[in-house]
This record gives sequence, C-alpha cells and structure tokens, in this order.
Amino acid sequence: MKDCIFCKIINRELPASFIYEDETCMAFLDIHPITEGHALVIPKHHQERFTQLNNEVAGHLFKVAHKILNAIEDSEIKSEGANLFLSDGTVAGQEVMHSHLHIAPTFKGDGQRVGFSHSDPEMFPRKRLDEIATKISKFINEQS
Ligand SMILES: [Zn+2]
Repeated sequence: MKDCIFCKIINRELPASFIYEDETCMAFLDIHPITEGHALVIPKHHQERFTQLNNEVAGHLFKVAHKILNAIEDSEIKSEGANLFLSDGTVAGQEVMHSHLHIAPTFKGDGQRVGFSHSDPEMFPRKRLDEIATKISKFINEQS
C-alpha cells in the first residue's frame, strides 16, 4: 500500500535493521525499542488487521517470532523472557495499520511490563464465562 510505512520498508524505500526475511514475512528492529532486541514481524502482503490475515500467514508470524526469540536468547542480548504483543485495530492501540507482531525481550530490572489489569471476578461468574465461550466457539471456522 502506497502510504504504508511498513510496505515502504518491505520495498526498501525506507531503512530498517533487518533480522529475517522469507517469502511470507520479514522481521526488523522496532525504531522505538522498549528494550534492546525489540523486533517486529510483519506479513509482506499488506493487511491492516491480524484478523484479515489468512490462517497460514497468521501462524507463520508466530513461527518466525519463535525462531527470532530463540536467536535473541542465543545471542549476547540480555533476555530472560519476552513479551509477544499484537495490537489488532486502533481501538486496541494499533498505531501502524499494517498488522505486526512485537517481540520484546525482557529481563529483571528493565522497567518494562506488558499486562492487563484484572477485572472484578464478580463481573464474570462461571455462568457468564460459559455464555461468552459459547458465543465465540460457535463461530470457530477451520478455514479462517
Ligand atoms: Zn503495509
């Protein structure tokens, strides 16, 4: 897509520090890293949302993230764990509208934590959780 910063990186119209590339995706370092080694894995074919990727490409992003995270842990980069983080949609905080998976190495004392704040457990009793699970599971489709 013409005005997409990640498509420009894919087309080598903008610089990036590349880690990995294959026919489906590529990975490079985040230009605003939260820790050393903070990388992004993106599909080469422009799609705004993770939910728009086909199932194989979506899975491939995580396979490549797994490969890269193992490489980070084998390298001299300080990493005692990692957060894999994907914001799907502007409402979820997605800033670049080309789907991307963050890999953020973490270590004790790095000052970075990605997390959720827990809800009041009374808001989601088992009955409500079961109803929500049913709403989702009836739309699970092996093809998408
Ligand atoms: Zn793009």
